[in-house]
Amino acid sequence: MPKVLVVGGGYTGFYTAFALQNQLRRGEAEVTLVDPLPYMTYHPFLPEVAAGSIEPRHVIVPLRRHLKKTNVIQGKVVGIDHKKKTATIEPSAGKPYAIKYDHIVLAAGSVSRTFPIPGVAEGAIGMKSIEEAVAVRDRIIDNFAKAANLPAGKERDRLLTVTVIGGGFAGIETFAELRSLASGMLKNYPELTIEDTRFHLVEAMGRIMPEVSLGTSKWVIKNLAQRGATIHLDTQLTSAVDGKVELSSGLKFESDVIIWTAGVMANPVLRKTDFPIDDRGRIRSSPTLQVTAENGAIVAGAWAAGDNSAVPDLTGAGVGGMCVPNAQHAVRQAKLMAKNIVADIRGEEPRKYFHKNLGVVAGLGVGHGVFESGKFRVTGFLAWIMHRGYHGLAMPMWERKLRVFGDWVLQFFVGRDTAAISLRETPTAYFRAFASRPARTK
Ligand SMILES: Cc1cc2nc3c(=O)[nH]c(=O)nc-3n(C[C@H](O)[C@H](O)[C@H](O)COP(=O)(O)OP(=O)(O)OC[C@H]3O[C@@H](n4cnc5c(N)ncnc54)[C@H](O)[C@@H]3O)c2cc1C
Repeated sequence: MPKVLVVGGGYTGFYTAFALQNQLRRGEAEVTLVDPLPYMTYHPFLPEVAAGSIEPRHVIVPLRRHLKKTNVIQGKVVGIDHKKKTATIEPSAGKPYAIKYDHIVLAAGSVSRTFPIPGVAEGAIGMKSIEEAVAVRDRIIDNFAKAANLPAGKERDRLLTVTVIGGGFAGIETFAELRSLASGMLKNYPELTIEDTRFHLVEAMGRIMPEVSLGTSKWVIKNLAQRGATIHLDTQLTSAVDGKVELSSGLKFESDVIIWTAGVMANPVLRKTDFPIDDRGRIRSSPTLQVTAENGAIVAGAWAAGDNSAVPDLTGAGVGGMCVPNAQHAVRQAKLMAKNIVADIRGEEPRKYFHKNLGVVAGLGVGHGVFESGKFRVTGFLAWIMHRGYHGLAMPMWERKLRVFGDWVLQFFVGRDTAAISLRETPTAYFRAFASRPARTK
């Protein structure tokens, strides 16, 4: 029986394995998926998790529950020798081992791309994982509680200042959702006013959200300014040592929460394979989602899609001729890739990937959003409803969709959940403080 090995259980890997297990006939092929995490993360909801609008566990999809006909291995792929069709796996427990395959699917996604700016690696946090979203939410809620007991001054200002670096989609959604969280929490903190809270977004380019038209991006800046949030365009972060933010404009301030969303790069694990990679570290794919060699020839038995690959955009709309790294492409590429793998196993011809952008929709905090498709634009409350409708339905698996919609219904009736449990990071502290210990013997 041919063996299919899927590297990564995010958007691309999860949907590929899910489609394969549904399309393959009994005994036709064996599918194995490897991921260090036991769940797939629905990234578009991370800003709403950070803002307390959705319960964190509801935006992740447990792999074993939904990939019942796939062998799921919790571990990392740390090397691939495609000439020998062998991958090395470092499991979450036990020693590394090699695994043989006939077809490999590269779906290891991307990681945050940072620049060597002093203080960023030590003091900033990304917005690429559920853990980061929860940590940001808890930190902001805790900071409100701390600030409420302090007199006006430097220490209180620092606790109530949030800085986001990067004005792309993820950065703006995160920034706007956190502004919404902070504004919403003020009713529980009579000691604080909106003027005490400071929200800064720093963008190196002269505009935000390159995915939308200039008019829409200007609307977003205006909307955020009206809500008490400042966007610094044509500005770079030059230092963030110990939370002391310094911008290229000369502005300096202290910020307890610094979130880095200024770009992603293909997963560096691809460099530990014998596949050729392009100048941006991505695997080159053909329109049929098969890996290609430097001379453009198809590499048999190797497939790649999603953020870790450069897939030609046959609509002609892509940046540099390639599909942009987003979920809209990752999901559709995964579904086609699964079909093509099945076709290849059956000796049939694979099909080419072609997808016209459906438009963009962004949530900017409760009651605010933007939607744009071609020349058609919606802003404000209606766009926010469209954002929730689209993403609520796009959330994989009905049991997960129901949980997310359930959270929103609850939020409507009983409000946003602003309970923070930061002490979960040191869960044994209580027990250790009072635990009896054996008497010391001399
Ligand atoms: C905050 C945020 C908001 C976003 N909002 C949108 C949006 O609204 N619309 C949109 O279209 N896109 C959005 N995106 C982008 C979208 O989430 C990505 O394009 C999409 O996740 C790419 O899918 P992927 O499968 O390539 O990577 P991922 O979904 O990141 O999956 C990669 C998987 O590989 C695993 N992995 C990593 N290393 C290894 C290894 N060595 N071995 C095995 N497995 C490994 C990871 O654990 C992960 O599960 C957003 C992204 C972020 C961060």
